[in-house]
Amino acid sequence: MNGDSVYVGGHWMKPESGQTLEMIAPSTGKQIGTIARGGAPEIDAAVKAARCAFEGVWGQMPAVDRGRLLTKLSEKILEHEDELTEIEANDTGKTLKRARDDVKAAARYFEFYAGAADKIHGDTIPFMPGHQVMILREARGVTGHIIPWNYPAQMFGRALGPALAAGNAAILKPAEEACLSCIRLTELAAEVGFPDGAINVVPGLGEEAGAALSAHPDIDLISFTGSPEVGTLIQNAAAVNHVPCILELGGKSPQIVFSDADQAKAIESIVGAIVQNTGQTCSAGSRVLIERSIYDEFMGALTKRFKQLRAGSHELDLDCGPVISKVQLERVLGFLERAKKDGIEIGAEGELDVSASKEGFFVTPTLFRLVPREHELAKEEVFGPVLSAIPFDDETDAIRLANGTDYGLIAGIWTDSGARQMRLAKAVRAGQVYINGYGAGGGIELPFGGFKKSGHGREKGLEALKEFTVSKTVVFNHG
Ligand code: NAD
Repeated sequence: MNGDSVYVGGHWMKPESGQTLEMIAPSTGKQIGTIARGGAPEIDAAVKAARCAFEGVWGQMPAVDRGRLLTKLSEKILEHEDELTEIEANDTGKTLKRARDDVKAAARYFEFYAGAADKIHGDTIPFMPGHQVMILREARGVTGHIIPWNYPAQMFGRALGPALAAGNAAILKPAEEACLSCIRLTELAAEVGFPDGAINVVPGLGEEAGAALSAHPDIDLISFTGSPEVGTLIQNAAAVNHVPCILELGGKSPQIVFSDADQAKAIESIVGAIVQNTGQTCSAGSRVLIERSIYDEFMGALTKRFKQLRAGSHELDLDCGPVISKVQLERVLGFLERAKKDGIEIGAEGELDVSASKEGFFVTPTLFRLVPREHELAKEEVFGPVLSAIPFDDETDAIRLANGTDYGLIAGIWTDSGARQMRLAKAVRAGQVYINGYGAGGGIELPFGGFKKSGHGREKGLEALKEFTVSKTVVFNHG
């Protein structure tokens, strides 16, 4: 694998720094590979290569042919499913099942957007007599994508699928904590035959390669997924050049359980939505809001289920693997320690498999009871398998509580009442609302993005194509 190079203009090359960064396996704490430490020179070269591709072969390619290339990449990913699954699981510590699902999702992104490439079209508008107005829908041009470590393979597809389908030339800056699958996926994309410069991948540190990309004056759009703090830095840097940004910044998503809900169904879904990817999912359901009249009964069943959860090496395919890094482990443990110090009662803890390596970054799934509404556990993104339970009094209180954080990414509503389902769906400020279900991350067809501090812009689905294109109004005066 090209673990010491950046991919720019159709070529793998060593970065000017000549340096690499170590990739550490979260399950063992041991080094499993390297990535290039790309920086400003490589970002600049990538932007130039992308601009050249956009103004040249790639930009001129018929949409149907762009779609065919995406189809080929999708098929190629599936041909390499086993290999990519292993890479992804070792690199991120996610369970083998999760890693396989992610690789399939990466392929599905390219499949979905392949079919859309030749269906992006504009409109006409009735205007004054003697005039004809056309609205063209054009690619933005050169798009920059800065992605996190929690779903490297999926994010590769989520970023590049729609950007390329729309005809943009793209530069991807994957995360330094985990991106080996992105390197391998780039190699597969190169084999498929995308024109030089259509896809450029520059691994490196956020404050170096990421900062250079977000501040580059010749970028037409930045899409970023990660922390709110870095989202602010990126938006500020891009604003200097008036470059628009799509930001996806995480959440504190509520699962709201009313007394008329199917409790058994809700519990399975609620537990799945917080342990998925060891809780390191922007749309993790990290708050469970329970109607007070069923609080004790519901918590009894939830506690019982939570105690069955097991964490361990990703190879064991348990409920949770490790978290991504020592830094992240300390961050999550910090939340747990502060909560205990503040006297918040632990409802249940899962179990850590005895074989778990002491050098691995493991944290046991934890359920907290009666979390005070203003506590950080009720407000802030932990990004680990930590669930906060909070009772509510009535529908109005549930809505207030659900909307009572800075975030607004997704929400689950559990009730049998059709009228209440509709009221809540409208009242909850979140980019996705699930009724009697919960889809952390949701399907590829479904538009995804936040309200408030969860970010702005929409990825996934056909909505992403709107973001990665721009309209142009053409007025013919034939009077
Ligand atoms: P981060 O925001 O620091 O990193 C995400 C991406 O941004 C990486 O590619 C990183 O290299 C890049 N980056 C970092 N600093 C940059 C800068 N100054 N300019 C440009 N790019 C930069 O996220 P993190 O440190 O990996 O995680 C911190 C917290 O963020 C997590 O604990 C979690 O709460 C949240 N997070 C959210 C998501 C999500 O999907 N919304 C994903 C990862 C992390």
